[in-house]
Amino acid sequence: MDFLVLFLFYLASVLMGLVLICICSKTHCSKGLVREGAQIFSYIIPECLQRAMHRLLHYLFHTRNHTFIVLHLVLQGMVYTEYTWEVFGYCQELEFSLYYLLLPYLLLIVNLFSFTLTCVTNPGIITKANELLFLHVYEFDEVMFTKNVRCSTCDLRKPARSKHCSVCNWCVHRFDHHCVWVNNCIGAWNIRYFLIYLLTLTASAATVAIVSTAFLVHLVVMSDLYQETYIDDFGHLHIMDTVFLIQYLFLTFPRIVFMLGFVVVLSFLLGGYLCFAIYLAATNQTTNEWHRGDRACCWHCPLVARRPSAEPQVHQNIHSHGLWSNLQEIFLPAFPYHERKKQE
Ligand SMILES: [Zn+2]
Ligand SMILES: [Zn+2]
Repeated sequence: MDFLVLFLFYLASVLMGLVLICICSKTHCSKGLVREGAQIFSYIIPECLQRAMHRLLHYLFHTRNHTFIVLHLVLQGMVYTEYTWEVFGYCQELEFSLYYLLLPYLLLIVNLFSFTLTCVTNPGIITKANELLFLHVYEFDEVMFTKNVRCSTCDLRKPARSKHCSVCNWCVHRFDHHCVWVNNCIGAWNIRYFLIYLLTLTASAATVAIVSTAFLVHLVVMSDLYQETYIDDFGHLHIMDTVFLIQYLFLTFPRIVFMLGFVVVLSFLLGGYLCFAIYLAATNQTTNEWHRGDRACCWHCPLVARRPSAEPQVHQNIHSHGLWSNLQEIFLPAFPYHERKKQE
């Protein structure tokens, strides 16, 4: 019974984490899920509670706030506390290599440093003073970005590849997306820090997962748990199988197994997102352009084309000039942040 309660709690927590990450990622799929979920809940939940939830969601996702920064640091703190408190200690006793055990801490330092830089760096906010400079950075493709368009909110001329962020209420040069986890837009001047942050976060989750798995495997091998036997509720003798072994480890080291499940899921999710971010960087696209380009392609599909009379608009990536040049643009942007600060 203990195992069942713990396992259900574990499963509910991991699922809640996944739902939260899906909602925060703001993909088409998650938006559809949220809409469908909201429709189902609208029949069950009283109206006053629905209004309160709507206000809460608006505050969380449509205003600048530090909720996800705090949540991020709490989750990271919990994983590292558990790692230090149990895994690190046990692994030292088992004489694991110290370099191997200290790697997650090294990644944590780089991660927190790049996280802070991503949060506090100006992403490339367009102002009256720098509007002209930005207008000359990128060419207009006249499909996705057309000349002489003004932002209806800021009343500034929109440079190619820029976008108005409705959360921060400003236009950003080479706008990628607004990230709730860093409470900032990701644009030309902080995308390099964001990529390092994402890379180190994925690597730290993966290394904690690898060390914890190595510890549990080492323990099973050392204590010959596979050769043990157990008696079930009906008094039958069984040789240790994988299911019973997982149950045994879960009950003996519940916090380690709980943390391991979380970091494994996180490693896969972050790894997938990191691959996508690297692909965008290597092909010189922003998330905003990829998203809009994806929709532009749908115009050719007879099932989704709503304006058959309209001219087919084919978006071509005119900004990609080879891998090295594309990466250089990310890590050495045309107007570095510190130079811009001096000019303003
Ligand atoms: Zn604007
Ligand atoms: Zn923003």
